[in-house]
Formats: sequence, structure tokens, C-alpha cells
Amino acid sequence: MASLMPPAIVVLGPGALATAQRVKARYAGAQIHALQERAQGDVAFSGLSDHLRELYRRGTPIVALCAAGIVIRCLAPLLASKGVEPPVLALAEDGSAVVPLLGGLTGVNVMAREIGAALETAPAITTSGELRFGTCLLNPPDGYALSSLAQGKRFVSDLLAGEATRIDGAAPWLDTVNLPRDPAARHAIRVSPHAWDGNPEHLVIHPRSVVAAASVAHALLAEHVREALSANGIAHEALAALVAPAARMGDAAFEQAASALDVPLRFAEAIDAACRTEATEAAEATHTLLDALSLPASAQRLAAGHGIALSVAHEPIDVHTLGAARGKLTVLGLGPGRADLLTPMARAALDEATDIVGYSTYVEMAGPLRPGQVRHATDNREELQRARHAFELASAGRRVAVVSSGDPGVFAMAAAVLEALEASHEPHWHRVELAIVPGVSAALATAARAGAPLGHDFCMLSLSDNLKPWSVIEKRLRHAALADLVMAFYNPISRARPWQLDRALEVVREVRAPGTRVVLGRDVGRPGETLRATTLGALKSSEVDMRTMVIVGSSATRGFSRGGSEDGEWIYTPRWYADGGDARG
Ligand code: SAH
Repeated sequence: MASLMPPAIVVLGPGALATAQRVKARYAGAQIHALQERAQGDVAFSGLSDHLRELYRRGTPIVALCAAGIVIRCLAPLLASKGVEPPVLALAEDGSAVVPLLGGLTGVNVMAREIGAALETAPAITTSGELRFGTCLLNPPDGYALSSLAQGKRFVSDLLAGEATRIDGAAPWLDTVNLPRDPAARHAIRVSPHAWDGNPEHLVIHPRSVVAAASVAHALLAEHVREALSANGIAHEALAALVAPAARMGDAAFEQAASALDVPLRFAEAIDAACRTEATEAAEATHTLLDALSLPASAQRLAAGHGIALSVAHEPIDVHTLGAARGKLTVLGLGPGRADLLTPMARAALDEATDIVGYSTYVEMAGPLRPGQVRHATDNREELQRARHAFELASAGRRVAVVSSGDPGVFAMAAAVLEALEASHEPHWHRVELAIVPGVSAALATAARAGAPLGHDFCMLSLSDNLKPWSVIEKRLRHAALADLVMAFYNPISRARPWQLDRALEVVREVRAPGTRVVLGRDVGRPGETLRATTLGALKSSEVDMRTMVIVGSSATRGFSRGGSEDGEWIYTPRWYADGGDARG
């Protein structure tokens, strides 16, 4: 069966928590998703239908501690569309019933048995093949693929009707299974990289045991690999990986070919000739790629035309042992803190990372991590050193997420990463797949809580003079104040920088009126968040710390009572601007 993500254990009330904990203990990385204000879990959600649908769409296995009918009703609209179906189970709150609902081909019955064992309950298995044989023949383990689902279903119903089967090839996972086996049977389970010959009495399972190597990439590469497989009678499902020369890392044509073939792209060091395009040399070079890999001794080498070489084995290949992957470095912003202000794109980058690099507070904020993900949390403020470390990991083939709070491009890691890359002469660093994923910056999160103080022209300033002279900060403050821009102050104050904020306020007060609106957001989007509205005249630096965002309004920034039962004012800066720009007015 395909390797699964850890399940989401969904609970609607405190009565289900004890059972949920027992299921959680069974699966590394599993999380309890609890209905907000009803129960306390690892992840909070507000609407059950939307939440279950979102999990389902993402392919997350679902263990829902509620009535089976509720789960069915929530997911029903999604069932018509084809696609990969994750396992979905309903569990009685007290653990007395385990009901596999969906995902027969992705291991729901396996999970039902596992959970049943953990809760000491017999699972309600209704799949006949599964009941009879104790396994789902149509869901082979990792490293194997079924040739045809339709043919597989017919084969299983033949066995259920009383036929026996022989097994051709190595199917170690069937050794312990209760199959009606007979070496002389007409029916056969065939485990082979070769394509199904159409015999209706054969269930064909392909080990992912074939490696295709190419030294030259072009738009037709995927098609040529398919032709090469077909010409040799090999099933496409048996292809485990496409291998390219390490010097070609980052070549889009190779990436497109691998993605069209739906296999991982791996890289091997080839001799120089691999980079040349002459057909004969290319073919030779391609073979040197396969030479550089550790392939099973029994693997057969086939030259397949178009400069492609194939290695065909009979057991699945662990692609992680084939040369190297192209490393990936994603610099992402976590937003201000709360999970629902983390963008889905950033969440996806975190989920697929092998390594998380960052300041320890933010690495914590990025969690909980999957088992196997490595944290590289540092407390030092040496951003460049951290960026170099990230490149070292990524150029060794790891998928690295460098995390910042807010947006990574706003006084954070993205610029440090680019600075490290520009200064580097290390070719491996330049081959890393680099991406920057934006996040909700503190100024934006604070502004939204207050209303819309950034509704017109504004600027973002860091008051930290660690990396720039204080004179530059004063000059920028003066110009920004004269330009009547709304100002968002990052890094307003710290123990090492005690006087700077007072001096900054002096500069601004020389230009801007004491009644100017000021918003202070502290720990916005985090536990203990506070939001305060004050004025430039009343603001004291003792009200501000390094976890505070200071927004100083323009002459046009205004406020009005929120009304109703809500305290405080809505603060906003109108979209229009009437004044000639005299900020003193
Ligand atoms: N990249 C971050 C900013 C890093 S600089 C971003 O885009 O938000 C760090 C400063 O950001 C802090 O000193 C504080 O002024 C501000 N800040 C960061 N997170 C904050 C939060 N949750 N609430 C208020 N201010 C925050």
C-alpha cells in the first residue's frame, strides 16, 4: 500500500479525547483535530464539514470519532469525483466500534485492524476479498504498482468464486496471507516489470524496479522514455526513477520529463562526455550514469535508443539510494503566529521539508513536525551563517525550509539567503531549487486588528541600528514624517537598544502633530495578543518592547467608536488625500 501520511483524529467533544489519545499513540505524527471551544486538541477547527472536506482533498487519512452517518454526509459531495481517496474511518467515542468507510485501496482496512488492535475491538470489515484473504490484493505495498484495477477486481472475484492461484515472481508480502494457492493453477499473480499480456487469468503487479537514464534533455524526453519502455515490453508503472547527469541539475527539460513520467528525478556524476550532445557519445555517457549508481547486481542493462539507457531489475528500487536528488531551499514566512494565518503554500513547504532551519522560537512555531523532520534551531542572530548552513544542507540533496516570522522578505531571512548565494562560488549552491514563500507581515496583521491604518501610502522601517548607522534611520524617519507617510516600526526597541525609540519619536514629533494616531500591536496573532490605540503625544517608549509593532498614523489617519458591545475604535487612513501634504496641519 502507498505510504500514508499520519491520520487526523477528529473529535467533537471532550468525551472522545481518551479514545483519540489511544489512536494517536498508535501513529507517529498523528494529530488530534478538535472542534473549537468544545475540546482541546493539537489543531482547532470551527466547521466539521469544511474541515473534513479539506482533509479529504489533501489526502489526509481521517479517523473521525463520531457517527458514521455524519462523516458520510460531510464527504458525500466529494465522492463522485475521481482521485486518490485517503482512508476514512468512523470510531465510536468510547472506542467500542471501528468502522472503515472509504479508502479500500489505500489501506483503510489495514488501519481498521491496527486501530482495532489498539482499542481491543474487532473492526467492522466488510470488504469480501479482505475478509477472505486477510489482505487487499489490489493494494500492493510500497514499491509495487497494480497493472490494472479493473482486471484486478475481476481476478479477486474469480478467487472469491473458488479459483486457486499460483504466484510467479517474488511477492514476499503474500507469504503470510491466506490465499488459495496452487502451483498448478491457471490463475496467476505475476510480479514482474513486464507489461500485462492481456491474459484475464493473471493479476499483474509491477515492482518499481526500472531506472531510465538520459544524458540529454529535450521536449520529447518523456515520450522517448515511454517508447523505450514499450519497445522492451516493460510496463510504465515499473519505472522507479529518471536519472540525469549531476551537472544538469536545474535543467527544466529534465524536470518536466520526470514530472510527465510521474517519477522522481535523480542525479548521478557522469564523465564529461555526458554533457555533449552527439548521439553516440550521449548514448555512451548515459551508460556511465548507470555505472555511477548502486543498482542491484541482477539488474539487466538495455540500450533503448534516443540516448536512453534502461536498467531493469526484479525487485523494487529504493530511489533514495540512487545518486542524489536536487536539493531544495524554501524561505518561508510563518505569519504572525496563529496557524490560520500561515498560508497553505507555506504549510505545504513545511510539510515537504526534510529540514527546518531558523531561530528557535520560529522553528517551534512551525511545528508540530513530522517524524523524521530535522530541526536546526539556533539562538544566534547570525542570519548569514544560518543561510549558509541551509545551502549546505540543500546542496546535499535535502529539502530545507528556512523559517521567519511574518514575511521572510521583511527584515528577515530571505535577503540573507540571497546575499549568501550571491557571494558563493560553490556551484552546488547555485543548482539548489530556491523559492521564497510570502507570509503575513506583523504590520499587516496589526493593521487588520486595528482597522485599516495602512489604507493609504505607508512605509516600513526597522529601528534597529545593528546593521545600519543610526544617522540613516533618523534621516529616513525625518523624510517619511515630512512626506506624511504612515509608518510601521519593526524592531522598535530592545535591551541592547534602549534609547533609540525615544530619539525616533523626537524626530517624528518635530514634524507630526501630538494628536497623530498611533497603534501598538503586541504578540499579534499569538497567545496574549494586545492591541492599543494611543497618540504620538501620549506614547511612551516604556509601553513598547521588541514584540511590539508600532504604527504611527499620517495626518489623515482617524478613528471612530466601534459601537455595539465592542470596546475601542476603528482606526483607518482614508484612501483619498485632500491636503497638499502639510503634515503639521
Ligand atoms: N519578518 C517579520 C519581521 C521581523 S522583525 C515580519 O514580517 O513580521 C521583528 C519585529 O517584527 C519585532 O521586533 C516586532 O516589531 C515585529 N513583530 C513580529 N511579530 C510580531 C507580532 N506577532 N506582533 C507584533 N509585532 C511583531
